[in-house]
Amino acid sequence: MSGSSVLDRFLRYVRYDTQSDERSSTYPSTDKQLVLLRDLAAELRELGLSDVVMDEHGYVTATIPATTTKANVPAIGFIAHVDTSPEMSGAGVKPIVHRAYDGRDLVLPDDPAAVLRVADIPALAGQIGHDIVTASGTTLLGADNKAGVAEIVTAAAHLMAHPEIAHGPVRVAFTPDEEIGRGTLHFDVAKFGAVCAYTMDGGLRGEIETESFSADAMTVTFHGFNTHPGYARGRMVNAIKVAAAFIDSLPPDRLSPETTDGYDGFVHPYVVGAAVDRTSVKLIVRDFVTAGLKDKEQMIERLAQEAAARFPGARVEFAVEEQYRNMREVLDGVPQVADYARDAIRRAGIEPRSRPIRGGTDGSRLSFMGLPTPNVFAGKQNFHSRLEWVAVQDMEKAVDVIVELCRVWEERS
Ligand SMILES: [Zn+2]
Repeated sequence: MSGSSVLDRFLRYVRYDTQSDERSSTYPSTDKQLVLLRDLAAELRELGLSDVVMDEHGYVTATIPATTTKANVPAIGFIAHVDTSPEMSGAGVKPIVHRAYDGRDLVLPDDPAAVLRVADIPALAGQIGHDIVTASGTTLLGADNKAGVAEIVTAAAHLMAHPEIAHGPVRVAFTPDEEIGRGTLHFDVAKFGAVCAYTMDGGLRGEIETESFSADAMTVTFHGFNTHPGYARGRMVNAIKVAAAFIDSLPPDRLSPETTDGYDGFVHPYVVGAAVDRTSVKLIVRDFVTAGLKDKEQMIERLAQEAAARFPGARVEFAVEEQYRNMREVLDGVPQVADYARDAIRRAGIEPRSRPIRGGTDGSRLSFMGLPTPNVFAGKQNFHSRLEWVAVQDMEKAVDVIVELCRVWEERS
């Protein structure tokens, strides 16, 4: 595989500012994402892909035409998002390639306080001799998910240049607004026309992720009674105090983001809208087992009712909203989708590894929209941070995995 081209593309893409914005009501949320999307469409056209389309929502899709002589090889897809996190500036990114990493701390030049410390980042120890790309200290890098974009375009270029590699139709999609949870809002699964897809949006080399949280959002609203505080004796019911009692009653040592990892779920209050007559607490509820969400929601209801009972005259109401579901519930029904990815990772010379995603991905939603979509490593590390980095050799391995996956699907069909 031509080694430099994935790096060349990556360095080109990270210079586009493609930050998404959750306060925006347009789609995509920011126009600047369209600049990269438009240029990606042009690049795919230049590489000779067919059906290159940028639709009215900004989604770019294209096809690497089949080279196989078999008639029954299904279309598979590869997906990456172009936007970067609103949590950290993505403007004026100055990527730096640290060649042949020697194991020392990496100090980023634009802010001496921005240091990638080997002691804090165990994954760096596995990268000795590799080429590490970082930003310069004041912005994120954008490897989340421009590493995935560069890997997919590079694999597409390789497949277009090597028609002797037998594969079925391969669909490609680049999407906006993943970081603000809207990446799949207008994604047309039927039009995409693949039996499954792979988001190239994971971290560590060799990773394949097939499990995500199941997720609900819950709003607990306490109603009190407000009156002039000078004449409130025996009459005022302060909803702020009821809500405070409720929040204080959440378990301090378990079921919270601060006290769980692995397969443990949690409840998490994250916004309070407070006034004396009415205070609402927004919570997210997370569990790997969808049925486990119910238990946690019942606990929230019980604690909220107990808090309200301590303040005569207060009452409480609840609203639950489904957010997304563990993609494993879909992927378990089509085991070859993840199995072929594991085979492809092994063929690229890496031992596949899996761990549950303590969050959601576009793949969680796409899987339930009818497109089973596990998440495969892109190499990004410390994302959403100015200490974000990616190893060039990991991006090259991800390109190999994409090419191998296309071959595996052809061979097994
Ligand atoms: Zn991402």
